[in-house]
Amino acid sequence: MKLPTSACLKCGDRLDAVTATHDGDIPEPGDITICLRCGHQMALTRGLRLRELTKRERRNQANNQWTKFVEQQRRIIMEKHKH
Ligand SMILES: [Zn+2]
Repeated sequence: MKLPTSACLKCGDRLDAVTATHDGDIPEPGDITICLRCGHQMALTRGLRLRELTKRERRNQANNQWTKFVEQQRRIIMEKHKH
């Protein structure tokens, strides 16, 4: 899923794709995205740019099964990219 190019707010890595929470979903403001490189979680603004999570969102994400799944996938992807 393509997005306007943004940089990770933490590590500065370029982010131009987002993993949809459910198949077929299109990115919407408020969706959570995770930096592949450092795992930093960010939310989408109305312009589909990145912003930091609010305290409330962060708390919700901490117990979110999807977040755990994505973090697991992220580690697998990063393992494959290691040489
Ligand atoms: Zn990052």
